[in-house]
Amino acid sequence: MNSTPFSSLPLPPAMLSNLEQLGYRDMTEVQAQSLPLLLEGHDLIAQAKTGSGKTAAFGIGILHKLNPTLFAVQALVLCPTRELADQVSNELRRLARFADNIKVLTLCGGAPMRPQIASLEHGAHIVVGTPGRIRDHIGRNTIDLARVQTLVLDEADRMVDMGFYEEIAGIVSACPARRQTLLFSATYPDDIRKASAEFLRQPAEVKVEAQH
Ligand code: ADP
Ligand code: MG
Repeated sequence: MNSTPFSSLPLPPAMLSNLEQLGYRDMTEVQAQSLPLLLEGHDLIAQAKTGSGKTAAFGIGILHKLNPTLFAVQALVLCPTRELADQVSNELRRLARFADNIKVLTLCGGAPMRPQIASLEHGAHIVVGTPGRIRDHIGRNTIDLARVQTLVLDEADRMVDMGFYEEIAGIVSACPARRQTLLFSATYPDDIRKASAEFLRQPAEVKVEAQH
């Protein structure tokens, strides 16, 4: 198997040395296929199984574009469950260590609203959350998505299976039309095809076959 190091990507040295410190030297297959497209600004639909390193794929894409001096929500990541949202937030915080002031906020259902509203008033660069709760914040006008430049639908097939399609559609329409949208899914059923057509613009497609 060929391996491609992260250092072959046009990333700033500080990001590359942080990846090295995390023990990430070579890209996984989904990273190697998607990152060149992602860094060029394409919308992307990527199909790959669990454990293939999808979080770093979109995380590096988000962080590469992020302006740490602009204290506004510049990336929104939707996940099916609180557990997955926490995992994604933790990975994003590790990937963001090359800068010391990038704030990642997790907003999930089942947690009280008021502290979340206080955190949003305080500000964040990246919000990770579940569709129901993000939709709630939009409805109450407690989240400002006007500066979102990257929208990620992580584990999109699971979110659709859980009945979140309409919430996702509402959230997408609260984001700027000019944005990069990335959809990650382990499977590619009709609902995901529909979501891709509705929410993404001329997406590049990446598919990583299961490895044995
Ligand atoms: P997925 O979202 O595809 O299920 P994750 O993003 O959760 O996968 O990554 C799975 C594991 O692989 C994590 O523990 C992560 O730290 C690790 N990982 C991701 N990319 C790399 C890499 N390039 N090199 C080494 N480990 C990696
Ligand atoms: Mg994942």
